[in-house]
Amino acid sequence: MPPRQMTDSSSSSRSSQSEPITSQVQIVGGGLAGLSLAAALGSAGITTLLVDQEAPVSAAAYSEATDNRTTALILNSINLLKACGAWEGCEEYATALTVMRIINLPRGRQTKASTTDFDSRETETSPFGYNVPNAVLRRVLCQRLAQLSSVTHLTQTKMDGMRSSEDGWLLALSDSSKATAQLTVGADGKNSLCRKTAGIRSMSWPYPQTAITCYIEHSKPHRNVSTETHYPAGPFTLVPMMGNRSSIVWVEETRLARKLLQQDEATFSKALIEKIGGRLGSVKLFGRRGGFPLSAMLSNSFHGPRLALVAEAAHALPPIAAQGLNLSLRDIAVLAEALIDQHNNRLDLGDSTLLEDYDRARRLDVVTRMAAADGLNRFASNDSGILHGIRGLGLAAIRNFPPLRQFMMNTGMRSPGGTPALMTGKKISPE
Ligand SMILES: Cc1cc2nc3c(=O)[nH]c(=O)nc-3n(C[C@H](O)[C@H](O)[C@H](O)COP(=O)(O)OP(=O)(O)OC[C@H]3O[C@@H](n4cnc5c(N)ncnc54)[C@H](O)[C@@H]3O)c2cc1C
Repeated sequence: MPPRQMTDSSSSSRSSQSEPITSQVQIVGGGLAGLSLAAALGSAGITTLLVDQEAPVSAAAYSEATDNRTTALILNSINLLKACGAWEGCEEYATALTVMRIINLPRGRQTKASTTDFDSRETETSPFGYNVPNAVLRRVLCQRLAQLSSVTHLTQTKMDGMRSSEDGWLLALSDSSKATAQLTVGADGKNSLCRKTAGIRSMSWPYPQTAITCYIEHSKPHRNVSTETHYPAGPFTLVPMMGNRSSIVWVEETRLARKLLQQDEATFSKALIEKIGGRLGSVKLFGRRGGFPLSAMLSNSFHGPRLALVAEAAHALPPIAAQGLNLSLRDIAVLAEALIDQHNNRLDLGDSTLLEDYDRARRLDVVTRMAAADGLNRFASNDSGILHGIRGLGLAAIRNFPPLRQFMMNTGMRSPGGTPALMTGKKISPE
């Protein structure tokens, strides 16, 4: 088992073993969101404790890693990672996403599948973004945290419980230590203990689908085209990776997905190759397969007293149109910007007005994206003849009318309420 990592002890302080670790901000959850927030705050010199249940990722090749997913990051998200000093290490593994291809399969009297290409070269900025293996993102973010003297990164450590006091939340950690800070951030995923302990209610709903994920090698080049084929059970997406490799997100009805995930490699590969068709030449599966049951969750509030919720602790949506982490990184950018400002003005980082402003700034974007992802999932995977026809007509209009296509591509990359400054190239400088 890799060693438990604790970076620079000069950052968060503890006067004796029984004294709590004290920081300005403590983050619970070391997923990609928690790691990114710690990197942003640490880059500004804010003392930050990150309580991370997972083990550090070794420098091994990403194909050996435990997370066999990739993330399609839009350019704004990449700007945030650059501001945090965490993009350079990713570049070597990042693949440009130049074209998004949507294939509407034939149904009823239609005899041909229709293909609609969204080409980033027709927009204001090209490419749309870059696809990066999650394990690479985690490794690079962990390495960045290790460089930041203001960050204490506790890996393989769980937050077992938390108690509130006027000065902030007191965390009880699995290594028997305690921690406190002016502000606690819940980045602890869909089942957030931070959210539940603070008594913040949420609504959630499952989908009857599961996303199967894996990597493939293929003999023909992908030409930086990401392809989404709409089947009745859900979209089947191929996202380009380095070389002749692609990552797959195959949304299938849950019962069938479970069966596919249990099949031996040869049987699974046969079904997969059938799904891909001949467009990538000969195909070989590599690495492990993963299964992610689809669900959505929206927290009634994104804050509580001296507590902020970010990313999947605040909102989770199905993996349709590569939205999840991009949306979450906008939470990180907005919250980090407000906290850095507050820190530079020597003000309380757990201030209730700051937290209310954060909530207000994020809600419209989150609700809009959730509604779009939910609608898109139901619409794209619906087998009704009428909806299939509407989908076909809509795609045909987009295909045949370039201004409409350009409009959709440009607005699809924007968020209501504008782009946070940390996503537009603004640098974070230590105070
Ligand atoms: C198949 C699939 C494909 C996707 N593709 C894309 C894409 O292309 N683009 C995109 O933008 N998004 C994509 N997403 C969404 C994206 O992966 C998620 O939004 C993102 O990983 C969520 O990150 P997070 O940090 O919020 O949550 P999580 O990854 O769930 O992290 C939460 C962390 O908190 C830890 N934790 C929980 N409780 C505790 C505790 N008590 N103490 C300590 N630690 C705790 C957990 O162990 C975990 O490490 C995809 C999702 C799926 C399922």
